[in-house]
Amino acid sequence: MSSSRQDDHDHLTNTDIAPDTRLAQAGRRAEWTSIPGQPGGIVSPAVWRASTILYEDVAHLRAARTDQHERWFYGRKGTPTAWSLADALTELEPGAKGTMLYPSGVAAISCALMAVLKPGDRLLMVDSAYDPTRTFCEKVLRPMGIDTVYYDPLIGAAIEALVDGNTRAIFLESPGSLTMEVQDVPAIVAVAKAHGLVTLIDNTWATPLFFPALSHGVDISILACTKYIVGHSDVMMGSVTTHEGWWPQIQSMAWMFGQMSSPDDCWLALRGLRTLGVRLRQHQETALAVARWLKTRAEVGEVRHPALPDCPGHDLWRRDFTGATGLFSFTLKDGDDAMRARFIDSLRHFGIGYSWGGFESLALPVDPHTIRTATRWTARDPLIRLHIGLEDAADLIADLEKAFAACSLTGRTG
Ligand SMILES: *Cc1c(COP(=O)(O)O)cnc(C)c1O
Repeated sequence: MSSSRQDDHDHLTNTDIAPDTRLAQAGRRAEWTSIPGQPGGIVSPAVWRASTILYEDVAHLRAARTDQHERWFYGRKGTPTAWSLADALTELEPGAKGTMLYPSGVAAISCALMAVLKPGDRLLMVDSAYDPTRTFCEKVLRPMGIDTVYYDPLIGAAIEALVDGNTRAIFLESPGSLTMEVQDVPAIVAVAKAHGLVTLIDNTWATPLFFPALSHGVDISILACTKYIVGHSDVMMGSVTTHEGWWPQIQSMAWMFGQMSSPDDCWLALRGLRTLGVRLRQHQETALAVARWLKTRAEVGEVRHPALPDCPGHDLWRRDFTGATGLFSFTLKDGDDAMRARFIDSLRHFGIGYSWGGFESLALPVDPHTIRTATRWTARDPLIRLHIGLEDAADLIADLEKAFAACSLTGRTG
């Protein structure tokens, strides 16, 4: 690809081409991939490591102060490695103006909330949110005089009843962490628009590939890039992508908090991003095969997978999403905590650990009843969250089958 062809590509808008084509081309601007003194260029931007940027003279130094976006200024404002990744994420969200990068998903969530809220405001937070998101609301926002009200993930348009004169923002996460309820995003966005509220979504599960949040009217789309964007369980990163209206505020708040991602991490995330499409399709296929198999097992109570008809919000998933990824949950029928531990300990192809979105499968005991406040998780059966990686589906199913046999020998103990 010559520099001039890359320049042509820069003039494409992100609605002209399909997501897979965007994944291959996004963020590869000629100015970031060209070779000094030679036509043509490299495919992927290099790792540009820098803190100090040297200026030719004082006039050059002063000129650099005026616009620091995607310009060499000082290492905290990034180098082409980070700009390329941020641009690529922006290109994946039709309607987006820009993307800021953060050292973790939690940093992205907390900084986005700080960008939209001020003391006296009220935030409506989905009850199925990632637990550290709630902790931030309680331990940081509440002492600052920002009130958080939690709402049922299945509330839909009825969220209007929770809006008062101080309500400023609605935070969504769909499907929800651990329990996988799919939210009626368009209905909630309509209420938000009618009342002049800003909407933010934690879109980590679907990514813009399976749910382009801004196209669905959401203002601010947040990813824990640690999961599927990186895809290899070796980098922590978060991103916030937004449209023109919120971009200045999101950018300046991230800059004021000194948020950034290292060039090495950005390079790894870019490398992961290129294969997001093929990885997600494989996660989807294998996870569905495992979830459908689990549904047939007598040892299983409920399977919470958005693409299965009995998952709360399944119809909304069918209407709004273009795919399902590799994370879902299920209950062990008539099991208890000890049986759940035996089951998970018996697995050979599943790691036991936090996070997800890498190429490897994981199993985790999870207890939503200790987290919820607006709704209750009343299932007595213990819940297990699975991340289905890129291993062979038959191997994973055989492993689960052996673990069922191993853990049911002694039955419920409590
Ligand atoms: C993991 C996760 C986060 C936080 O991301 P980190 O990079 O671990 O800070 C946020 N939201 C969801 C839904 C997650 O699963």
